[in-house]
Amino acid sequence: MPRPVHATIHADALRQNLARAKSAAPDARVWAVVKANAYGHGIERVFEALQAADGFALLDLGEAERVRKLGWRGPVLLLEGAFDARDLELCSRLDLWHTVHCEEQIDLLAAHKTHAPHRVFLKMNSGMNRLGFAPQRYRAAWTRLNALPQVQEVSLMTHFSDADGAPGIAAQLAVFEAASAELPGERSLCNSAALLRHGRIAHEALWSDWVRPGIAIYGSAPDYPEHDADFWGLQPTMTLAAKIIAVQELQPGDTVGYGSGFVADRTMRIGVVACGYADGYPRLCPTGTPVLIGSVRSRSIGRISMDMMTVDLGPAPQAGFGSEVTLWGRSSTGSVLEIDEVAHCAGTLGYELMCALAQRVPVVLA
Ligand SMILES: *Cc1c(COP(=O)(O)O)cnc(C)c1O
Repeated sequence: MPRPVHATIHADALRQNLARAKSAAPDARVWAVVKANAYGHGIERVFEALQAADGFALLDLGEAERVRKLGWRGPVLLLEGAFDARDLELCSRLDLWHTVHCEEQIDLLAAHKTHAPHRVFLKMNSGMNRLGFAPQRYRAAWTRLNALPQVQEVSLMTHFSDADGAPGIAAQLAVFEAASAELPGERSLCNSAALLRHGRIAHEALWSDWVRPGIAIYGSAPDYPEHDADFWGLQPTMTLAAKIIAVQELQPGDTVGYGSGFVADRTMRIGVVACGYADGYPRLCPTGTPVLIGSVRSRSIGRISMDMMTVDLGPAPQAGFGSEVTLWGRSSTGSVLEIDEVAHCAGTLGYELMCALAQRVPVVLA
């Protein structure tokens, strides 16, 4: 028997979450963001469930090829654009739309030979200081790009640094609007947090033409712990579950795991679960991180090791060898443990846990 740990990808939840994202901007077209192998879910696994998307957005050219190989003839957008001249050849061959965020990318395009002019998204750095043209250089970049015979149509985009938190999007939105005023072209602004939290406020600009939800599709709240996935009407799309492979009875003073990281203060039953950090479960999760034993909430005990972790069987006295433990997602009985709650215990985000699901974990599409 293979080691009893596996992940499940829930196609129904992907479908529902995409519909939820669409309902937040009913007039916009939706890029389903599938970068990082669909946030760890696997592009091939999510592809069918995301057919209601208007396009797929990603940044790795190999992933773009995979989306085309799956038979997708609609729009595909490279969120970081071309890294070198050969990438533009692939864009021409596979009809990929691409972001242009710096002068060097315009140079590459100007030198590129293509029969089919490209559809490009010109990115403005409206304050995040990662990718994009400074607002005062944006119009000149647009003019240069628009004049190239290699370019069919220029769309306008930017990305918000604080859509998930208190600063919000107002300042960046004002910068974007001022610097792009009167420029023709479709607009794309919102990631999940902007779409869910600010869609209503700046409705005109934000619903724009294209929205770019990623994390919401994968059932994690973009602004946890202020709101959780349930608040946003999102379902878990990835479950990580394993079985108990051993049970230990502890006496007061007994310790558990490396570094004797946990000391029992009473008699306890604990279960050893076949999941560790080499499966993608964060080693930084401290004692007390929630788990589901069957459908009963309990907690981790002691340090996470490479292949195993230990859980408190106190709340689940019937549990023993072979019992199911859900580390995040939806148990086979339908109980939910949100990935964000586990991520928060490790000081990180649901994004990171999904993306870090290890290669060695077998994945089932349900
Ligand atoms: C990753 C990414 C998104 C999606 O962000 P989420 O927070 O997952 O919704 C949108 N736009 C760009 C440019 C991105 O890189």
